[in-house]
Amino acid sequence: MSSQSTPTSPSPTPSPETPRSPPSSGAPFLRITEIFHSIQGESTWAGLPCTFVRLTGCPLRCAWCDTEYSFHGGERQSLDEIEARVDDLSGGPRTPAPLVEITGGEPLIHRGAFELARRLADRGYRVLVETSGSEDIAPLDPRVHVIMDLKCPGSGEVARNRWENLDALDHLDEVKFVIADQADWEWTAEVIRTRGLDRRIADGTLRALLISPVWGAAGPDPEDVARWILESGLPVRMQTQLHKHIWGAEKKGV
Ligand code: SF4
Repeated sequence: MSSQSTPTSPSPTPSPETPRSPPSSGAPFLRITEIFHSIQGESTWAGLPCTFVRLTGCPLRCAWCDTEYSFHGGERQSLDEIEARVDDLSGGPRTPAPLVEITGGEPLIHRGAFELARRLADRGYRVLVETSGSEDIAPLDPRVHVIMDLKCPGSGEVARNRWENLDALDHLDEVKFVIADQADWEWTAEVIRTRGLDRRIADGTLRALLISPVWGAAGPDPEDVARWILESGLPVRMQTQLHKHIWGAEKKGV
């Protein structure tokens, strides 16, 4: 894990064509906060039906975290049980657009998450993994679509960014910046430029750069964020959390 906290030292030239390492063998059990079927609320997959597997536990404490209920507790389930539940909720991998997301908490603190992702991909699911970016993503199966945060200063966790993960991202993957204020936006724009992420969007070696304002009164005015983006000319995609528009910010399991 890098302790770097500013965007001023670019990583080595990305090598997005390098496949991620083969998956590690995983534990047969995972600790699960919830498994549910809903509408994907974020990323380029927003709006599609998706089954979510939320793993328990996270070593970070982002100032604006909206899933603190996943930090503790949960229920121990075997990978077989998890797969069966995903099949039940989604209709199985033979349904059209069988989308499943492994999330948390931070899912990649669990060895078994890598194995679960591989098994679901083997069975025909399109697998998304949402990660804070603090853990090594290289062992993930190359079929996985990674949605990786780069933590902005306003999160209080910028020192947890594992910058070498950028080299393991490929054309399937997306980078998300959660913006708490204008200082976060300015940091984001500098990271995108100094790390060459804008060029990777242009050449197709990265799928998307997502800009997500912190929800509600704790976050910036979305109109301001839209203006900052337009003025920057950067190839980023602004998003708000669709599930919160539909069901409200406090509802779990949606
Ligand atoms: S990484 Fe995600 S789950 Fe962990 S504290 Fe940050 S927002 Fe919450």
